[in-house]
Amino acid sequence: MSFRPAPAHIGVLTSGGDAPGMNAAIRAVVRTARFNNLEVSGIYGGYEGLIKNEVRKLNVRDVSNIIQRGGTMLRSARSAAFRTTEGRTVAKATMDRHGMDALIVIGGDGSFAGAAIFQAEHGIPVIGIPGTIDNDLPGTDATIGFDTATNTAMEAVDRIRDTASSHDRLFFVEVMGRTCGAIALHCGIAAGAEYIMVPERPQGIDELITALENTERSKSSVIVIVAEGDEEGGAYEVARKVKARYDHYDTRVSVLGHVQRGGNPSVADRVLASLTGVAAVERLLSGGSAEMVGQANGKLVFIPFRSLLDQSQALDGELLRILGILSI
Ligand code: ATP
Repeated sequence: MSFRPAPAHIGVLTSGGDAPGMNAAIRAVVRTARFNNLEVSGIYGGYEGLIKNEVRKLNVRDVSNIIQRGGTMLRSARSAAFRTTEGRTVAKATMDRHGMDALIVIGGDGSFAGAAIFQAEHGIPVIGIPGTIDNDLPGTDATIGFDTATNTAMEAVDRIRDTASSHDRLFFVEVMGRTCGAIALHCGIAAGAEYIMVPERPQGIDELITALENTERSKSSVIVIVAEGDEEGGAYEVARKVKARYDHYDTRVSVLGHVQRGGNPSVADRVLASLTGVAAVERLLSGGSAEMVGQANGKLVFIPFRSLLDQSQALDGELLRILGILSI
């Protein structure tokens, strides 16, 4: 860490897809900043709000009664303009106009890619907080929103199982995850799914059909969880391909969709958001920048953006292995 004056006024924004627990992180950032006598401003609508000057000072009471709410009180957005040098220059001018001298970005890998460039171009200290339901960020065991989203998906699959087993049905349930199968894998284990299809492990329809054929015929229902980004397509496409060649079951498809993003955050997400929110402000105060704060093996960790963006989060091999054992 190089020497620079401690920040006096922190800006905070949420970016990319919203995730349950982002509000808890905003609350932690605002209260920790005020606890340390720093000014703190909320930037509304992610990087786009920074470009469009959607900024408001926040105080401790402005973040009352939000810890339990899903979504983000600061709203989120994707900003094409921030991907350009000109857009980021306007964003820096907004920071200067309000006197903001440091930034906390709550979002996913895209948001941190933008933060890293902004920091490099304009020398603004930036700390990232992992807020995404996907759990696709290396270095942290979990991201804020993943636990809630996975619980929501699991509860939906539990309900689907009730109806599936009443009718000898094969259900294909699509969960979120364009590039990462973590929700599918964890939900699959927790809901006792027979099979999962994830983008990290392209398996093809042949392997799925072999698995279905090997599945105990006495099973009254079979559930296949399909991550939306699976190579064979989403759940409808996988179901269509299976149905064309394997007709033993009455087949149904359910796409869970955005229901997985909403809802009150779980205990785990609120605690992770609170811990990382406090740590982000404290890290800025001690000179840190261009890092994401996460948690690994129960300890806070700070992962440089550059190493974060070079890697991807691998799926948990042990969970993959046990799924094959437990689904017989
Ligand atoms: P999620 O994982 O929930 O999708 P994310 O942070 O990965 O969240 P993105 O849509 O990839 O979501 O990125 C959010 C925003 O970050 C983009 O709309 C853009 O403004 C900014 N951003 C992403 N990549 C870059 C980049 N290479 N340069 C500048 N800005 C970027």
